[in-house]
Amino acid sequence: MLRRSFLAWAVASGATAAASVAGYLRWREITPVVHAPGRDAGHFLRDRKPLPAPSQSLSTDVLILGSGVAGLTAAWKMRKEGQDDFLMLDGPEPYGNAAGGQHGSLAYPTGAHYLPLPTEDCFHVRELLADLGVIVRGADAPKPTYDERFVLHGPEDRLLYKGAWQEGVLPHEGVPAQELAEHQRFFAQIDVLRAAVGADGRRRFTFPSERSSMDAAAARLDTMHFGAWVAQQGYRAPSLLWYLDYCCRDDYGAGMNDVSAWAGLHYFCGRGGVAENAEQGAWLTWPEGLQALASGMERLARPRRLAGSAVRLRTMAGAARGRNTEVLCFALEHGVARTFTIRARRVICAMPLHVAARVVENMPDVHRQIHAPWMVANFLMKRFPHELPDAPLAWDNVVHGTQGLGYVVSTHQDIRVAPPEKTVFTSYVALSGRDPREARKWMMTASGEELLALASEDLRAAYGMQFESCVERVDITLRGHAMAVPRPGFRSDASLRALREMDGPVLFAHSDLSGFSVFEEASWWGYRAAQRALRG
Ligand SMILES: Cc1cc2nc3c(=O)[nH]c(=O)nc-3n(C[C@H](O)[C@H](O)[C@H](O)COP(=O)(O)OP(=O)(O)OC[C@H]3O[C@@H](n4cnc5c(N)ncnc54)[C@H](O)[C@@H]3O)c2cc1C
Repeated sequence: MLRRSFLAWAVASGATAAASVAGYLRWREITPVVHAPGRDAGHFLRDRKPLPAPSQSLSTDVLILGSGVAGLTAAWKMRKEGQDDFLMLDGPEPYGNAAGGQHGSLAYPTGAHYLPLPTEDCFHVRELLADLGVIVRGADAPKPTYDERFVLHGPEDRLLYKGAWQEGVLPHEGVPAQELAEHQRFFAQIDVLRAAVGADGRRRFTFPSERSSMDAAAARLDTMHFGAWVAQQGYRAPSLLWYLDYCCRDDYGAGMNDVSAWAGLHYFCGRGGVAENAEQGAWLTWPEGLQALASGMERLARPRRLAGSAVRLRTMAGAARGRNTEVLCFALEHGVARTFTIRARRVICAMPLHVAARVVENMPDVHRQIHAPWMVANFLMKRFPHELPDAPLAWDNVVHGTQGLGYVVSTHQDIRVAPPEKTVFTSYVALSGRDPREARKWMMTASGEELLALASEDLRAAYGMQFESCVERVDITLRGHAMAVPRPGFRSDASLRALREMDGPVLFAHSDLSGFSVFEEASWWGYRAAQRALRG
């Protein structure tokens, strides 16, 4: 299906046969390096291969399973509050979906890449940013002061629409007046909803989402798809509909007809932090994306880290110092499995829930979440492609009407007078609009060329034939279960609520607990698990 759409694109683009062949041959010279974090370990667990007997047993007060944003937040918070008896088991991917990579001096994201300014409600993120020095003053004030190196500077984003670049991601140039009027009406409605308070006295949309109103109106919004809500409100403008769908794909990995109306609105209404020295709604970013925050937390937390993955977690009575929970872990070293056990008083499960369900004995049932597969491609550019003078390269560059979500430029925040010679363009594709299982299967079995064709769709649309000659190397990261899709009903899911409320020897902390995946949510569950673990 994907290959067909790629061929359709190539034909529609009107490239001559000779040029296509030349381009194709050049691409063949660049074989992408394909990474699939967790695939080997995941398959090992899934296939229930026999494991050797444990060769070591360790003991700790608190054990954190997983080194993503949730696990690292728990580690940072515990260390800060004086707990130093804890261990962190990395799992198959240190930093998880907030990981990044490096080519020489050029860092780039292989997952999350930006963080909107947190509102006052998002106090846990503000506290973290202050500890990391990203907030330099006033973390508790309505308008903190941020280190300006990390505040996204212009040009922030641009859109390739009907063959020309325009500023911003919402199409406006060449858009009929009645469509522009609908844009205005939509954003006026968002302003009202952003300030709305539910019948239970809570803000209707806020971070952490757990603290948003759960009144009857909020519950109603969660029973329908965002696309249905948009239609119900009388929005018809194709430019607006494309934009709303794009935003859902970009944040949730699924289009507006797949996500809950509450989630669709939360995207627009839950954020909007302000700062003393940045515009309202500004974003923070780093060359390596949110790996900067993950590695910063690791630096502050100084966790004792162990390579390996949890295979089985069980709780039994009677161990010394209440360390009643035992985790069997395995590590694959050059394809050979080694196992060891860790005993702990409290275990923070900061791994995805579908993995935890296979690891944690007697785990309460979780209704199956659907996870969207994503592909992140890093193009090491030996030089910048030529840009038109009136359409300079932006941090985020989006192409209208493709499957892709655009590409970001790793050196954008570089403020040296002369631009660097090389850079990394990172393109994002959520394989939305089809059955996630089928999309995952396609992604995991596709050839490097097929993956490259899809990953480079936006870049080829933006630069045509010149693009390929600028590329030195391509790394493609496949994230098969990248993020939970917030489908209608996700907020009232009783099985998720039960996991959030658990406060025994096993605590859960992962963005899956929110039913959708953004930094603020992942970090919230880590923060909360640490508070519970600290209570003794
Ligand atoms: C492509 C992409 C782009 C994104 N962009 C943004 C963005 O720009 N801004 C934003 O706010 N959010 C973004 N997100 C979402 C954000 O990255 C996530 O919400 C966040 O990183 C999730 O952190 P987590 O700790 O919940 O989970 P994960 O990142 O899933 O981490 C889980 C951890 O568990 C470990 N693990 C797995 N199995 C085991 C096991 N058996 N035993 C022990 N450990 C195990 C893994 O190794 C990993 O360390 C993006 C996500 C993706 C996929």
